[in-house]
Amino acid sequence: MSDCLFCGIAEGAVPATLVLETTHAIAFRDINPQAPTHVLVIPKAHYADLADLAAAGDGLLAEVAEVAHQVAVAEGIADSGYRVVFNTGSHAGQTVAHAHAHLLGGRRMAWPPG
Ligand code: AMP
Ligand code: ZN
Repeated sequence: MSDCLFCGIAEGAVPATLVLETTHAIAFRDINPQAPTHVLVIPKAHYADLADLAAAGDGLLAEVAEVAHQVAVAEGIADSGYRVVFNTGSHAGQTVAHAHAHLLGGRRMAWPPG
């Protein structure tokens, strides 16, 4: 989608700090980090949200989750713990309509989230 910010990042048209790339997914640093490690993992192809990504049923969602864990290992937070979040829809505060997993870690986090 030409007007999608994260499609622009996936295509290299919008600058981002890439952390990891696999065949169908990329990971890059969040521009407004909420934790010492705050990385977004997206499918390169456009899916609006987790619902669309789950409905694709082609292993892409698993690849996104695997990349999140691989980044956690690379960032040195796999042992201390981390959180993976898909904000989905308005109540969750989703602001970018291209499915993305937030990988957060490097500090202790509160539960439940606000
Ligand atoms: P959400 O609110 O779950 O849709 O998350 C969108 C995330 O994208 C927010 O954490 C933003 O800080 C982040 N974000 C927005 N624009 C960019 C960008 N150009 N590069 C990296 N992260 C971004
Ligand atoms: Zn997109």
